[in-house]
Amino acid sequence: MRPNKTEISIHWFRQDLRLKDNPSLSNAAKYKKILPIYILDDYNSKDCKMGSVSRWWLYNSLRSLKKKLNNNLSIYDGNPLEVFQYLINKYDIQEVCWNRCYEPWRISRDKKIKSFLESLGIKVVTTNGSLLWEPWDTKKDDLTPYRVFTPFYKRACLKSESPRFPIVTPDFQELISDTDGSRNLDDIKLLPSHNWYQEIEYIWKPGEDQASMKLTSFLEDGISDYKEGRNFPSKKKVSQLSPYLHFGEISPNEVWYASQSKNIEGPEEENVKHFLSELGWREFSYNLLYYNQDLPISNLQKKFDNFPWQENSEHLYKWKRGLTGYPIVDAGMRELWRTGYMHNRVRMIVGSFLVKNLLLHWKHGERWFWDCLIDADLANNSASWQWIAGSGADAAPYYRIFNPITQGIKFDSDGIYTRKYIPELKNVPNKYLFNPWEAPKEILHEANVQLGVNYPYPVVDLRDSRERALNAFKSI
Ligand SMILES: Cc1cc2nc3c(=O)[nH]c(=O)nc-3n(C[C@H](O)[C@H](O)[C@H](O)COP(=O)(O)OP(=O)(O)OC[C@H]3O[C@@H](n4cnc5c(N)ncnc54)[C@H](O)[C@@H]3O)c2cc1C
Repeated sequence: MRPNKTEISIHWFRQDLRLKDNPSLSNAAKYKKILPIYILDDYNSKDCKMGSVSRWWLYNSLRSLKKKLNNNLSIYDGNPLEVFQYLINKYDIQEVCWNRCYEPWRISRDKKIKSFLESLGIKVVTTNGSLLWEPWDTKKDDLTPYRVFTPFYKRACLKSESPRFPIVTPDFQELISDTDGSRNLDDIKLLPSHNWYQEIEYIWKPGEDQASMKLTSFLEDGISDYKEGRNFPSKKKVSQLSPYLHFGEISPNEVWYASQSKNIEGPEEENVKHFLSELGWREFSYNLLYYNQDLPISNLQKKFDNFPWQENSEHLYKWKRGLTGYPIVDAGMRELWRTGYMHNRVRMIVGSFLVKNLLLHWKHGERWFWDCLIDADLANNSASWQWIAGSGADAAPYYRIFNPITQGIKFDSDGIYTRKYIPELKNVPNKYLFNPWEAPKEILHEANVQLGVNYPYPVVDLRDSRERALNAFKSI
């Protein structure tokens, strides 16, 4: 029997894989019957198709979400427009609800779907479920978008209306599923045929409940020393909430208010404020992407279009595999490969090494991160790569070239992080850990290190490559 026309709404899950603080789901829940759906859209995504590690995360996140919905999550893959055509034919849908996405390809797809549904007289309700402030609410007085972070955050964000308070999980009257049309999660090709993700599976637990637990443990143990501690990759002083925020397993509003409940006026004020400003960077990246739709592929500063990037597939390969001969760089790249994550400080070091010491285009780094990162996010990734390269808005000045030796000494002074990912250097004393090629022969011998055999010589000379990068910059 067909359900009653006036009773069905669809909530289309996208980057909001959660029940709590989900404005669109709460809208849909005003109806008696709700049909929650997810559509794997490899049809419209093209170059933005999810990388392998993101697909692993998504698989597990959907599994957890489906369980929370008592199995009432209908899953499809393909062109969402066709999925909606099918659903509209099959059910009497009154309203379709979703939380807005801000990636250019999603915006143009959603516009088409919205006008298609509205042309059939179906109400479409879209809401903000993933940003604290939407791009059109944070413009300058002259109505142009900000291009510099500090005024964006201080003048636009903090002086605007406060972000929405988190809302509770709605009471559902009846959740329904499209039992005969929905695909099986195992059939939509999210997981690879070869299980390379054992270590990732051990470390990461996707899903809404896990996101809340991560937040709680960060508020208990991490935030109290966040401002300083966030620079040290071996310390557990960062939240590791990025994949959960990316997939919307937790809302930024939840994180924003929960961290402020941590005694904002007490001794932790500076740490809390700093953490909030990092969420502000996330907002800034989304803002940049929204107003610069080609951010993932084109330099924001056009003078970089003439930058003399090198092509060197051997160097690129060595960078990807953590074989550059610079231990802190190699540790970061191997952390990424093994765990799907890399600490922010190390992301900056390996990024600077790629675009400045190796003089390879930031695009190569952006693509590799896109495939390997568990938190791969079009806005954050492309904005951060352009920041590193110096080609972005409010970017690090090009002449600021991270020195991988001094960065290692400063931020991994006891070598815990580097030795964890480069075990072949575990017996090298701290003094030479970040520059083993400068160690006396007997020390390397004692540490069982044979350069060029079990750990590489540096792929480029630091001083020469720095000079070359600065000359390249002068040329534009
Ligand atoms: C080259 C490069 C590529 C990056 N690619 C991504 C990416 O694809 N996805 C991604 O989420 N972040 C990216 N970042 C930003 C940052 O490294 C990560 O957000 C952060 O390391 C995630 O760890 P965390 O959750 O423990 O961060 P925390 O320090 O706990 O910060 C809390 C949250 O704030 C946001 N945030 C923190 N730093 C930044 C930043 N610099 N820019 C934007 N948002 C930030 C994230 O959502 C993060 O989860 C990149 C940075 C660099 C230098």
